[in-house]
Amino acid sequence: MESPSRSSVIIVGAGVSGLSAAKVLIENGVEDVVILEASDRIGGRIRKQDFGGLSVELGAGWIVGVGGRESNPVWELAQKSNLRTFFSDYSNARFNIYDQSGKIFPSGIAADSYKKAVESAMQKLKKSEADSCYGGGDVTKAAESSSTPKTPIELAIDFILHDFEMPEGEPISTFQDFGEREFLVADERGYEHLLYKMAGEFLFTSEGKLLDNRLKFNKVVRELQHSRNGVTVMTEDGCVYEASYVILSVSIGVLQSELIAFNPPLPRWKTEAIQKCDVIVYTKIFLKFPYKFWPCGPGKEFFIYAHERRGYYTFWQHMENAYPGSNILVVTLTNEESKRVEAQSDKETLKEAMGALRDMFGLNIPEATDIFVPRWWNNRFQRGSYSNYPVISNGQVVRDIKAPLGCIFFSGEHTSERYSGYVHGGYLAGIETGKALLEEIEKEKERSIESENQTFLLEPLLALTGSLSLTQNDAVSSLKCDIPRQLYLSGKVGAPELYYDYVDL
Ligand SMILES: Cc1cc2nc3c(=O)[nH]c(=O)nc-3n(C[C@H](O)[C@H](O)[C@H](O)COP(=O)(O)OP(=O)(O)OC[C@H]3O[C@@H](n4cnc5c(N)ncnc54)[C@H](O)[C@@H]3O)c2cc1C
Repeated sequence: MESPSRSSVIIVGAGVSGLSAAKVLIENGVEDVVILEASDRIGGRIRKQDFGGLSVELGAGWIVGVGGRESNPVWELAQKSNLRTFFSDYSNARFNIYDQSGKIFPSGIAADSYKKAVESAMQKLKKSEADSCYGGGDVTKAAESSSTPKTPIELAIDFILHDFEMPEGEPISTFQDFGEREFLVADERGYEHLLYKMAGEFLFTSEGKLLDNRLKFNKVVRELQHSRNGVTVMTEDGCVYEASYVILSVSIGVLQSELIAFNPPLPRWKTEAIQKCDVIVYTKIFLKFPYKFWPCGPGKEFFIYAHERRGYYTFWQHMENAYPGSNILVVTLTNEESKRVEAQSDKETLKEAMGALRDMFGLNIPEATDIFVPRWWNNRFQRGSYSNYPVISNGQVVRDIKAPLGCIFFSGEHTSERYSGYVHGGYLAGIETGKALLEEIEKEKERSIESENQTFLLEPLLALTGSLSLTQNDAVSSLKCDIPRQLYLSGKVGAPELYYDYVDL
């Protein structure tokens, strides 16, 4: 076993949030930071994969929220890294809805179904609001009478409206703040290139490789012992790391799993908040063909398969705009369908996807030559794709998840109050956590100066009362009064709780 190494801060996770937190700390003089990453790469849910001779994005694919009143910081990073991106226009997708016999629904029917689905969604939203405020009432009746999707086209549109993207509830703050445009990243260097570029500004690199020994790969954190004196972190390979603080930037799915044990255990209000957040599983399945057989051209990038089973191979995209001649299709599955395909063989998934495509484009289309099925749910370092707070959430759940506990700080996209679920949410959450920790380090310094001064003043008094038999250390520790760090740097303002005094074991 390695002997424990001590640093100021340990950051668990080298995704966008862990890295942006590290950047804030290191650039503000807290250089003895250790970043422990379970996998062998940075990026987490930003992850490229070689497929069909190209680099495709298994995780985040779009920069969402561009063209609004504020500039999206991830868009800025993309510009700085010269990332190749393409504007995605989803508005035509609803006019490319195929039934199981390969006919495209007339645009009038599609528009009507879409309008009905939006109205029904609005009714449901009002019902949830009414339920949470007044316990229902007239709106409840209205919502009950509003139609539940039944036909394949209704089910398909309902899936697009509710399951396809949209990690935030309405109104979508990303769109409000940064704009409604979305850009697909289609760059051989991958979306992750912007992270390498950012990390290169504060970590040591050589020939484009991150070689800083503060960044440690294949370090799966399994146990976190914490007290008012700091943290001891144990990794699966038997290493032990000590620090004054830890930033935990692992996903909400990992927090919900039992991968990391806390000693003492987290208090109940924290674990309850963690369990309340939904985890969306979002799976992009890639298929490579010998030639293309789907329509291309303006307004044809996205198409929809209407099936009687909700979410069954519903949403499709061709890659011809971004990579002409690539002959690659992507189909998106979510939640239960994602979990179902993760549990079966890729051969079975290929058969199902080909079935959907043959329904839409006929029996003579060629067989796919390759398939890639990411498994975000079964990945123990992710356990899902992104957080999804209940539509009507007063923000308390996210604030409870984010609230620091003594020396443990929480970060990650799921701690972003306005942009949870997105890359920019993770990026901004990391910056916020880094700044909160800097403030706490500063306060801790002030506290120890104060306590040193008190010792200095007390010494003559101790001499007079004949207590000089006490050592200086005894005197100092008796003065500290065991005041732990303030729990809430944000969130429960005005009601700081002293975590180490009430840990519910
Ligand atoms: C399929 C998919 C599609 C998406 N599409 C988009 C999109 O188009 N646009 C968008 O903006 N966002 C999208 N997202 C969401 C976006 O990718 C995330 O919000 C963001 O990348 C999260 O960053 P993070 O740093 O919070 O977490 P992560 O990237 O998950 O980083 C956490 C890190 O912690 C590590 N870790 C976990 N457990 C341990 C442990 N025990 N010890 C040590 N390390 C550990 C993980 O390996 C990981 O590297 C998508 C996500 C997925 C999965």
